[in-house]
Amino acid sequence: MAKVLVFTELHGNHAKGVTLEILGKLAGHTIEVAAIGAVPAEATAELAKFGASKIHSLKGGNLDKYSPEGYSNALEAFIKTGGFDYVFAGATSIGKDLLPRLATKFDAGLASDVTNFTFSGDTFNGTRPLFSGKCFAKVEITGPKPHFVTIRPNALGMNTAPTAGAGATAEANVDAGAIRAMIKEIVKGTSEKLDLTEANIIVSGGRAMKDAANFKVLEELAEVVGATVGASRAAVDSGFAPHAMQVGQTGKTVSPSLYIACGISGAIQHLAGMRSSKVIVAINTDPDAPIFTRADYGIVGDLFTVVPLLTQEFKALLGK
Ligand SMILES: Cc1cc2nc3c(=O)[nH]c(=O)nc-3n(C[C@H](O)[C@H](O)[C@H](O)COP(=O)(O)OP(=O)(O)OC[C@H]3O[C@@H](n4cnc5c(N)ncnc54)[C@H](O)[C@@H]3O)c2cc1C
Repeated sequence: MAKVLVFTELHGNHAKGVTLEILGKLAGHTIEVAAIGAVPAEATAELAKFGASKIHSLKGGNLDKYSPEGYSNALEAFIKTGGFDYVFAGATSIGKDLLPRLATKFDAGLASDVTNFTFSGDTFNGTRPLFSGKCFAKVEITGPKPHFVTIRPNALGMNTAPTAGAGATAEANVDAGAIRAMIKEIVKGTSEKLDLTEANIIVSGGRAMKDAANFKVLEELAEVVGATVGASRAAVDSGFAPHAMQVGQTGKTVSPSLYIACGISGAIQHLAGMRSSKVIVAINTDPDAPIFTRADYGIVGDLFTVVPLLTQEFKALLGK
């Protein structure tokens, strides 16, 4: 049985979904959770439900906004006190930045963007996609502990019968140390929707959207099914959607339960970002579009006809 620290980010009053996925998968190990700042009661209850034996709020100056140096200095000091075998975090924008820094500080191994793992005893065996998901590597970490692991959001899935932990709460004072580059202000987007990397359902539009205003068609469907809207690079480069919405090799990597690609041809660079989606639906006028070779369900048709029909049907089905 390994002693594992899971670093969690908070989203409002809740722990990020990927943290709960990780906790659920770690059942049977001693799991503690650390967050920077106060952990709200709702998040504490969720973390305990998914197996956290202890939840640490790390407090200190200059930690109100993420900074690579501040967070890594603070966590380094805390991790040293805990005797952890492993430190896990989501492969989010912050996790992908933070854990390699920590691994370097500990001169320890890191398995990044892992999509599945098992333990034999307390030895970690992970799987991670390589070359944009064209093949998979089996990963073990050797060398000094703790070992560091980032997990791709939505890849593990939620444990539907998690083993609860004690959920004791603790506070620790940590020092952000010297910070050379600090974020002064975060300007939030207007959307309250989940970030693409965390979304369970994504409706994406491609070049065929023709105009930014036409994304309204996708937003209406997204609203009904509780999805986040994404875009191909062609749509982004054409100015129809911001880069934050781009899925693919030079955009975000997503693993939703359902990915609906509307007017997207299925170029390899787009597939690189969404091929690990559980179910892919493609809507395209061209029956030979490469996306159909990857899609679980394909609809040959005009998205401006098909998407409103889907919205209407889902509305009726879901009673909305
Ligand atoms: C280094 C590099 C990195 C890249 N990174 C990314 C990336 O991160 N993400 C990404 O997406 N791309 C990326 N690309 C670009 C990629 O190669 C493709 O050019 C891009 O994905 C194409 O976007 P698209 O499918 O929207 O457009 P297109 O390839 O033009 O496809 C549009 C599709 O819409 C269909 N269509 C047209 N009208 C309709 C309609 N009314 N209803 C339904 N279907 C219709 C057409 O049949 C066609 O299949 C990258 C390229 C390079 C070289």
